Amino acid sequence: MTTGTITPEGAASAVQTARAGDDFLVFGALRASINRIDERLLHLLAERAKVATDIGLAKRMTDRPIHDAAREAEHADRLCTVGEALGLAPQVVRDLYQVLARQGFSNQLEAPVAASVTTTPPDSESFRLARIEPGRSPTVVQVGEAQIGAGLFEVIGGPCAVESEQQIHNAADHARAAGVRILRGGAFKPRTSPYDFQGHGMQGLRWLAEAAHSRGMAVVTEVLNPADAEQVAEHAELLQIGARNMQNAPLLRACARTGRAILLKRGPAATIREWLCAAEYILLEGNGQVILCERGLRTFERETRNTLDLSSVAALRHLTHLPVIVDPSHAAGRDELIRPLCRAAHAVGADGIIVEMHPCREEARCDKRQALSPGQLRSITSDVQLVRVRRDE
Ligand code: PEP
Ligand code: MN
Repeated sequence: MTTGTITPEGAASAVQTARAGDDFLVFGALRASINRIDERLLHLLAERAKVATDIGLAKRMTDRPIHDAAREAEHADRLCTVGEALGLAPQVVRDLYQVLARQGFSNQLEAPVAASVTTTPPDSESFRLARIEPGRSPTVVQVGEAQIGAGLFEVIGGPCAVESEQQIHNAADHARAAGVRILRGGAFKPRTSPYDFQGHGMQGLRWLAEAAHSRGMAVVTEVLNPADAEQVAEHAELLQIGARNMQNAPLLRACARTGRAILLKRGPAATIREWLCAAEYILLEGNGQVILCERGLRTFERETRNTLDLSSVAALRHLTHLPVIVDPSHAAGRDELIRPLCRAAHAVGADGIIVEMHPCREEARCDKRQALSPGQLRSITSDVQLVRVRRDE
């Protein structure tokens, strides 16, 4: 009895031998055998983790969720049947499968970053908290029901500006019907001309919060002034730092200190590294809930409002663990370009999009040309198919 499997007869004779007093020899052999089985199981588990990672990578490229409850339940039942035929109690099989499935989900979630990264990016000390680290899981930012960065493509939508109580309630109805879980709306508007509509300020924010929260949605809105950060944070789950303010350090710090999640837009002339350094200001305040948002750059091109730099999304995957979303509305500046750009954002691996939609676009007081109609928003969310509220209803 030196190697190999222990048969029932072998075990029985081993017990007899043990009774005869050869305890060390017998139990030593049995233990060696079970240890070998455990090692084989570990090899199989490592193999399983690799496959789960590959599944995670494949899911990031498509619109499949990490969890598929129906498939998992069916698979667990099948394993119980197979286990029973082998003499294993179904509950034991079910418990084991639950542990395996949990491990499999985390392998899948880690896939986009951990699978490809073996070193930190060079010259990344200036954004050392934001930078990617070998083995570190991607950051997932919770906003209301949504988990941005967890592998599902999130669609954030709503009007450019909160224009009236009625307008934001109508917009919220359409957004909700399209499956949106985070409603956008500007209460404090950063306008190029001081003569343009500047937003309704705190009153607009209260209308926005009521419209979103009464329909089970979370709120994202821009903060313009560090002094307003605390008050805005009482109404909004996600605080937006606009492109014009990306490098406004007092604003970054004030918003970070509220503890709310932060949506950090890229400045129209900022490099990716400058953008990550801006995120670092937030992280340094102890607030790790940061989402980056690519919204296009100022270039010589005039056919589009800004030039949407989708390469930044791909590049960021090698530089940071933070989630990245895309704003095709402010990039394109024209409603008819937004749907294809949403698809492109998805294809390049973004964690979601933020788009502008007006319930009656001819009446929009801000960014009218890029406002989606409610129908156009629905086409985008049905492209995406991953807005869970919609799928569950
Ligand atoms: C906005 O989202 O309302 C906005 C003003 O965008 P940006 O800061 O990207 O111009
Ligand atoms: Mn706008």
